[in-house]
Amino acid sequence: MAQLGGTPVLLLKEGTERTRGKDAMTNNIAAAKVIAEAVRTSLGPRGMDKMLVDQFGDVVITNDGATILKEIDVQHPAAKMMVEVAKTQDSEVGDGTTTSVILAGELLKRAEKLLEQKIHPTVITEGFRKAAEKAIEILDEMSIKASIDDYEKLKNAAMTCMSSKLVSESKEMLAEICIEAIKSIAEKGENGKWIADIDKVQIQKKEGESIDDTRLIKGIILDKEVVSPGMPKSIKDAKILLLQSALEIEKTEFDSKLQITSPEQIQQFLDEEEKMLRTMIEKIEKSGANVVICQKGIDDLAQHFLAKKGIMAVRRVKKSDMEKLSKATGGMIFTSLDDVTPEKLGYAGLVEERKIMNDSWVFIEECKDPKSVVILIRGGTELIVDEVERAIHDALCVVRDIVEDEKIVGGGGAPELETAIKLRKFASTLGGREQLAVEAFADSLEIIPKTLAENAGLDQIEILMNLRAKHQEGNRFAGFDMETGEIIEDMTKIGIIEPTAVKVQAIKSSTEATSMILRIDDVIAGSKQPEPPGMPGGPGGGMGGMGGMGPEGMGGMPPM
Ligand code: ADP
Ligand code: MG
Repeated sequence: MAQLGGTPVLLLKEGTERTRGKDAMTNNIAAAKVIAEAVRTSLGPRGMDKMLVDQFGDVVITNDGATILKEIDVQHPAAKMMVEVAKTQDSEVGDGTTTSVILAGELLKRAEKLLEQKIHPTVITEGFRKAAEKAIEILDEMSIKASIDDYEKLKNAAMTCMSSKLVSESKEMLAEICIEAIKSIAEKGENGKWIADIDKVQIQKKEGESIDDTRLIKGIILDKEVVSPGMPKSIKDAKILLLQSALEIEKTEFDSKLQITSPEQIQQFLDEEEKMLRTMIEKIEKSGANVVICQKGIDDLAQHFLAKKGIMAVRRVKKSDMEKLSKATGGMIFTSLDDVTPEKLGYAGLVEERKIMNDSWVFIEECKDPKSVVILIRGGTELIVDEVERAIHDALCVVRDIVEDEKIVGGGGAPELETAIKLRKFASTLGGREQLAVEAFADSLEIIPKTLAENAGLDQIEILMNLRAKHQEGNRFAGFDMETGEIIEDMTKIGIIEPTAVKVQAIKSSTEATSMILRIDDVIAGSKQPEPPGMPGGPGGGMGGMGGMGPEGMGGMPPM
C-alpha cells in the first residue's frame, strides 16, 4: 500500500506478496545457488548421474545439466532464470550447460560477498560485464585453430563432450558417426566459412540391439512398411514417384444415391472403377517409376496392380517426410498423375524395407542429395536410447561449433584457470571497486577446475595450487585428467579439447543471468486468480512493471 496525502491507496491486489531491497536480492541469490548446487556433482566425466522421476513415475537417468534442469519442476522466479541459462547455453552451442549454471551460481555467491561490503549492485554488474568481455578476449587469444579437415581434433572434442555421459564407452564410434554426419550436411557459405545446420541431421531411435548398432544412414528412414506383401522389398536404382493425392477412386463427399436397378449395373459400376484405377497405375508405369510414396491412401485393387508390375509402394507418409524426401531425392511432389514426367521423379540408389525389432521401416539410401542423413540410434532399453540421443546431440553441436568457429581450447579446467590468471592482471589496471568486481569474476571461474577436482574425489586446494603453478610457468592448457587424477601440462596432448565457442557462451550466459538477478530489488508475486470468463488478457494477478524507475533504476520482476 502506498500513502497519498494520508489516504491509503491500494496498489496491489489482495494476496499479493512483495519482497523488497536486500531481502529480495538475498532470496533470489539463495534460490539461484540451490539450482547451481543441484547440478554441481554432475560436472565432468567422473560426475554423478541423476535419476529423475516425474509425477507419472517416468524415469530419466542422465548426467546432462540441461536435461536435469528441464525435468525438475522449478517454481522460484530466480531459479527459473538459472534454468534459462542452461537453455540458452544448449540452444546456442549445445554443450557446457552444467558449466554455465555452476558459473552463474558462483558469480552470484561472490557478488553477495561484494554486496556485504556495501558495493552497489550496478557497480558489480558493470564490473562483471567488463570482466566477461575481457575473458572472452583472453579465451580467443589462447585458442588453437581447428578446421573441418582436422579429423583428430574433431574426434577428440566429440569424445571429450561424450566422456561425461552414461554412454561414454561407445564414445569413439559415436564420435565418428557424428563427424561423418556433420561433414555430409556442412556447406560453405558465401564468406568462405562453413555452416553446419544440425537440424539437417535427422535422429531416429529404436530400442533393441546395442549402442554399437547405431548407424549413420545417408538418406531417409520412413517408419512405414511396404503397403502390400506382394510388392518387392528392395529396389535398386529407384525412380521414386512422390504423390500427394490418394491412389483411390474419389468417393463423393456428400451422401449421393446411386440408382442401381439391375445386377449388370453393379458389375458395370465396378468395372468402371477398376478401369480408372488401371489407368492410374498405367500412368505410373509409363513414367518409369518403380517406387511410389504416397501421402494418402492406396486402394487395395491399386496395390494389387502395382504389385503385379513390380512397383513398390508406401502409403500415408507424413507431409513433413514427403518434403524431406523431395529434397533428398530431387523429386517433385505431384498432386495429379497427369503431370508426372520421368525427369521429375526422385532418385535413390536403394530403397529397402528392413525389420527393426517388431517394426518394418523403409530406408531410402544413396539419395541424389548426399546432404540428407539420419542417425539411427539403437540401444538395450528406452532409457539408454534416450541418453545416447542426448550424447549425440551434444557431440553434433560440438563438432558443428568447431567447424563453424574454427577454434578450440584444452579442457579439464585449463581455460578457466588461465582466464582467471590473466583477468586478475587486468583487474590490477583498474583500481577501485571495479577492480574488486573483476577479481571476484576471476575467482568465480576457478569453480570449474575446483568442481572437477572435487567430483574426481581429489583435494581441490592441492590441485588448484599445482595447476596455478603450471600456468604461471606458461602452460596455458595445464589441467588435470579426471580419469587418472594426474596433472597434465597440456590437455590438448591427451585429446581433452573443447570448442572455444562453448567456453565463450558459458561466460556470456552466466554473466547475463547474474546481472539480471542482481538488478532485481523488488519481487512482486501476484496470487494467481482464475480469469473471469470472457475477459481475455485481463490482469490475472500480473503486477509487472512496478520497479524500474528510469534507466538507472532497478528492474522490477513480474511474477512468472
Ligand atoms: P557441461 O554440461 O558443462 O558440458 P560436463 O559434465 O559435460 O558438463 O563436463 C564438462 C567438463 O568436463 C569440461 O570442463 C571438460 O573439459 C571436462 N572434462 C571432460 N573430460 C575430462 C577429463 N578426462 N579430465 C578432466 N576434465 C574433463
Ligand atoms: Mg558436456
